[in-house]
Amino acid sequence: MKLAEIVKERLDKTIQDCTNEELYYALLEMTKKMAKNKESERGKKKLYYISAEFLIGKLLSNNLINLGIYDDVKNVLEENGKSLSEIEDIEPEPSLGNGGLGRLAACFLDSIATLGLNGDGIGLNYHYGLFKQVFDHNLQLETPNPWMEKESWLTKTDRVYPIQFGGFTLQSRMYDIDVTGYDSRTTKLHLFDVESVDESLVDGSGIDFDKENIARNLTLFLYPDDSDDAGRLLRVYQQYFMVSSGARLILEEVKERGGSLKELPDYATIQINDTHPTMVIPELIRLLMEQGMLMDEAIEIVSKTCAYTNHTILAEALEKWPLAYLEKAVPQLMPIIHELNNRVMQKYTDESVYIIDKEERVHMAHIDIHYGYSVNGVAYLHTEILKNSELNNFYKIYPEKFNNKTNGITFRRWLLHCNPKLTALIEELIGPGFKKDAMELEKLGAFVNDDAVLDRLLGVKTACKQELKDYLKHTQGIDLNADSIFDIQIKRLHEYKRQQMNALYVIHKYFEIKEGKKPSTPITVLFGAKAAPAYIIAKDIIHLILCLQQLIENDPEVSPYLKVVMVENYNVTLAEKLIPAADIHEQISLASKEASGTGNMKFMLNGAVALGTMDGANVEIAELVGEDNIYIFGESSDAVIEHYEKADYVSKDFYDKDKEIKRAVDFIVSDEMLAIGQKENLERLYKELLVKDWFMTLLDFKSYVEAKENALKEYEDRKAWAKKMLINISKAGFFSSDRTIAQYNDEVWKLDSSLA
Ligand SMILES: *Cc1c(COP(=O)(O)O)cnc(C)c1O
Repeated sequence: MKLAEIVKERLDKTIQDCTNEELYYALLEMTKKMAKNKESERGKKKLYYISAEFLIGKLLSNNLINLGIYDDVKNVLEENGKSLSEIEDIEPEPSLGNGGLGRLAACFLDSIATLGLNGDGIGLNYHYGLFKQVFDHNLQLETPNPWMEKESWLTKTDRVYPIQFGGFTLQSRMYDIDVTGYDSRTTKLHLFDVESVDESLVDGSGIDFDKENIARNLTLFLYPDDSDDAGRLLRVYQQYFMVSSGARLILEEVKERGGSLKELPDYATIQINDTHPTMVIPELIRLLMEQGMLMDEAIEIVSKTCAYTNHTILAEALEKWPLAYLEKAVPQLMPIIHELNNRVMQKYTDESVYIIDKEERVHMAHIDIHYGYSVNGVAYLHTEILKNSELNNFYKIYPEKFNNKTNGITFRRWLLHCNPKLTALIEELIGPGFKKDAMELEKLGAFVNDDAVLDRLLGVKTACKQELKDYLKHTQGIDLNADSIFDIQIKRLHEYKRQQMNALYVIHKYFEIKEGKKPSTPITVLFGAKAAPAYIIAKDIIHLILCLQQLIENDPEVSPYLKVVMVENYNVTLAEKLIPAADIHEQISLASKEASGTGNMKFMLNGAVALGTMDGANVEIAELVGEDNIYIFGESSDAVIEHYEKADYVSKDFYDKDKEIKRAVDFIVSDEMLAIGQKENLERLYKELLVKDWFMTLLDFKSYVEAKENALKEYEDRKAWAKKMLINISKAGFFSSDRTIAQYNDEVWKLDSSLA
């Protein structure tokens, strides 16, 4: 076996004599070499997926699976008294993304490689990623998350570019990470970094640093705090650095492959992941003009090359940069941005489609829509809302540009890697075909009335719950009851995702138990979520949950029946442990606000049943599994949109009208809670719910409680529940990112080569 040779060469040792760390680095070297041998040039047109985030997770096991050597390596290690899972623990997780959007980009790269498409990713090499979350006195603290070690998945390349900003120039260098496809070829993730970055700029143990020293801070963190001007300006510098480096790479590769700049759309297609990479459009136009092309032609060519994905309808998330920021950071783009706006103003009288508004702000999405060839939403409902309300003025101008691409997840990571026991059971029942063609999971439908199969499915779930219990005990000192119902909500902390509604349910249940109404099976409510460092209310919600955790833990009347656990530093690694263990998963966003969600798909694939609103991809999940196999509650997206239009939702009315709601909300500032938590945080959250409640928590609370009680009751019939689990798994094939990527290719990118 090769591993033994590598270990011998590196250390002059046998596998048996190596430490786990030595074995990790040997496996890293071996995997990188194997990936290199699978590279190939594929066809004329190439896709560039540009994204400010790639939440790739740990790579070792995933690469071993995709290269087809996972079992061999695991066995060789075992024969030598070593454990692959202990070696996996050594790998640091790069946190190069916030949440769903960055994880989507990572799943897409896996599928692009697996389908053998000619496409690479382009992004930034943040040294400290997002941040590492630590809890202290029931509050979130942020610390840096260093992940680049002396040897890592990154390979330094010779590509360097001078990137010009207003008043100074920085050198960018490209680093590559190999992306292995499952039983297929490899592609690359290109991450650009600035040579002069200086990690010592970060003060103390937190994540504060000098935001104005661009040469030294540019790639320190992912989207640094944008609550002040210096932070927002730094974001503009980061975005331009990424797209200018990317644009130069793309034009260079077109030439290397024998194309002329006029042929750009035949050689390249660029998918813009949300608006963060939007400046690639004016930058490409600028670079083409620098090489002698006339503006008209440059605009036409770039417009045939770029396509845009919208990820949100939350107004605060749609980027609008003040002209003054752009003038300072990237003055060379200004003539082009003004010209792009002038052309729109000459054609249309509707000011809502202008690029520059009356307040002198540049609407990044408007550049993408006017000067890109495709605009897509990420789930059926989301795309309908874009067409019919949010972007209706654009839809009227360009109906042909709008299309839907419902998100997906890679089954290699979210089934094969994270749940080997379930994978083995499925393989035994329907053969290995589902690993390449996810729709084959439908074959599981044949077993819905097979008692022996249902029992084994429940057995797998129990084993996963036990594994999670052991893992959380070992890593975070948390005790779980593996015989309780695992009800899990893991996702970024945001008011629209409504973790606060789940917390109010916990309070409601706490009162019921106190009154003697005890659940037949104990319930464990698990949360995992990071809050943006400057998002005050989100941090208050974390505080509420942590205080409830402590209160209930120390109440012997309640703790045998109800447990609240918020895991620290929720990330991809934790998601991989939590998702296989879930019985119920919470997808409770206010209808119309969650563009798609992908966590919902991961849970479904692992045999958990959703409790959710008719929002994002939940709508498609509900349609696939049928109403008996999902718990739906809450007002429809149409009703919610109407409430916003009429501005007729008043949370206080719901509080005044309903005793149970009042009791739960009041408890946030009760003596019991104030004895544990911070008055300032709890009172601020209490007031927010009563006076604003922008995401209508109290509107849906009663129907949420009702749906959850129904789910908990139906859990008791184990056989009927196992059937729901099996149906969810059997219908999950549609949510493979292989399907999503095949659709992007057929309908948007039209790459001429695929796996031959
Ligand atoms: C899948 C995933 C997300 C997205 O979860 P949603 O529930 O869709 O918001 C966020 N973070 C991590 C680590 C993930 O793996």
